[in-house]
Amino acid sequence: MPAPTQIDMRSDTLSLLTPEMRKAMAEAEVGDDLYGGDPTTGRLEQHCAELFGKEAALFTTSGTLSNQLALRVHTAPGDEIITDTKYHINFYESAASAGLAGVALNTVDSPDGVLTPELLRFALQRKKRAPQCSAPALVCLENTVNFHSGRVVSLDSLRALRHDTLTAGLATHIDGARLANASVASGSSLAEFADTADTVSMCFAKGLAAPFGSILVGPADLIEKAAAHRMSYGGGMHQSGVVAAAALYALQHNVERMTEDHHHARLLCKLLSDHPAFGVEPDTVQTNILVVDVSSTGLSAAAFVRAAADKGVLLAEWTATSFRAVTRLGLDETAIRTVAERLLALADQVKGSAAA
Ligand SMILES: *Cc1c(COP(=O)(O)O)cnc(C)c1O
Repeated sequence: MPAPTQIDMRSDTLSLLTPEMRKAMAEAEVGDDLYGGDPTTGRLEQHCAELFGKEAALFTTSGTLSNQLALRVHTAPGDEIITDTKYHINFYESAASAGLAGVALNTVDSPDGVLTPELLRFALQRKKRAPQCSAPALVCLENTVNFHSGRVVSLDSLRALRHDTLTAGLATHIDGARLANASVASGSSLAEFADTADTVSMCFAKGLAAPFGSILVGPADLIEKAAAHRMSYGGGMHQSGVVAAAALYALQHNVERMTEDHHHARLLCKLLSDHPAFGVEPDTVQTNILVVDVSSTGLSAAAFVRAAADKGVLLAEWTATSFRAVTRLGLDETAIRTVAERLLALADQVKGSAAA
């Protein structure tokens, strides 16, 4: 029997360039961004500043770079940042925040990925505050929350927190790698979300399906500082218009279509939740990420992910007991139903061998 065609659900960064996006890139007007400017990059930055309702925007090579530039411009070495343990900024970038910005992360463990006013108060009050001690300067949020199945942090919740951070004299950065997903799923605009923070980053290479790139938006003085740090981090670009054109194309054509990805994630969630082996409740998925506990199969996440790959489904090993599956451009409903069939067959097979 031939091996089944692989369906890759590890990440939404895996969507490939469409012919239309390639065409937009091929036709992009370019210059040198560090010598007088690249016109397409300039258009992207201007468009994003307007889209998010901020003074200025900076195109960067990655979401991690945008976040790290934000940390850098909001803080001084020795400052403290309040964030959630499971946010990207801590789980996947922590060495950079210490190494590049010289800051300490004061992390709280929210049960659902939402940093509430109560958790903020806890983070502020959990230790003695005195002039000779490190002081918090910034709160870092994430929307959607990657670790918590792509949960949307609502505008109401962000506004409540913003009230308290401003009272405490803290700046706010939102890691909005998937803020477009949050916007499409909730009906709140990017500008409404951005209004609850000083700076926001958003990725073009996730659900927006561009090859790479991210935008950092905020006040003009901070974005100007971020541009200088971008250079020192080796992130200055020359004919970046080729990629900026892909990002502009994505903002025009790939935002509304995310509802399809969200529908597919809900469908997969529903199909898997019918099986007792999968620890996932139906109707718990809000955007394009599904995190599924596989403890009941008796396999570790690593073993389950290996077995799924043998059946032609690529999943991301997420924790010791769970996998992550992400929907995206290029995966249609047929692919999602095939994934469900293969994973349900695998769960039956594992259960059968455990009983034998
Ligand atoms: C992907 C991601 C980033 C950064 O992505 P890059 O791979 O550096 O572009 C930041 N935050 C979150 C929540 C992400 O999912």
